[in-house]
Amino acid sequence: MNTENWEPTSEDIEWTLGHLTGIRIGGVWAPGGTGLEYERTGDEELTLRRITQHPESGEMHRRVLATLESTDWIVEESQAEMVVPSLNPQEAQFQELLRQQEIAAQWDCPNVECDHKLVDMPLEDGMWETQGMQAALDDEGKGVEIERWVVSLECDECSTQFQIDPQDYGLLGGDDLFFQWRTPTGTFTVLTREQVVDLVDGGVAAEMCAPLGSTHEGEPVPPHIRGTYCLFAKPPSDSGGEEE
Ligand SMILES: [Zn+2]
Repeated sequence: MNTENWEPTSEDIEWTLGHLTGIRIGGVWAPGGTGLEYERTGDEELTLRRITQHPESGEMHRRVLATLESTDWIVEESQAEMVVPSLNPQEAQFQELLRQQEIAAQWDCPNVECDHKLVDMPLEDGMWETQGMQAALDDEGKGVEIERWVVSLECDECSTQFQIDPQDYGLLGGDDLFFQWRTPTGTFTVLTREQVVDLVDGGVAAEMCAPLGSTHEGEPVPPHIRGTYCLFAKPPSDSGGEEE
């Protein structure tokens, strides 16, 4: 990270405000992978709850402060807990993932009148959707175009339809769902090398498996699934309504 001269752009400010106003009061905001946790404690108040003793965590907090400086939002910092990360990077990463999953398990339906938890919704019905190329910044702060994807979900309590970030979908559903792609003709599930070996040795790969490129039957393939070898399963044939 270039730590010296970072200044928020108007898009950064707009994005952050849009994100914060989408969190209900009492909700947690933990910007991905930074070891920071904030709670929205008022209409325009954010309280820092946890910060990790790591330069990137400190820098990200500084950026949050810089981004909100020109807005009406205030950031309360006095009650923050300083977390010392494990010296083993793998262990630290694992702890951070567990923490993120714990937070994700608290997310509830975007419909304010419904408090059904996202983690209890039928996540396996999530549909990957592309929103086309969008402007973004790379690690060095240069403007680039990236393909933006979301996962569409439906609340099974109130039928609200909404979209979440692929990373958040992975946190909620784990790798099993993250590496699955449902299409109108069937579902692709990414195989491990061991699974490919078993299916090929068993002589069934030709009928059950397929490699994926950038598109499949005219549909763009989600980027993280491109170039993988998948199990392909047709949807169970409907004969008189779905099972509940
Ligand atoms: Zn709902």
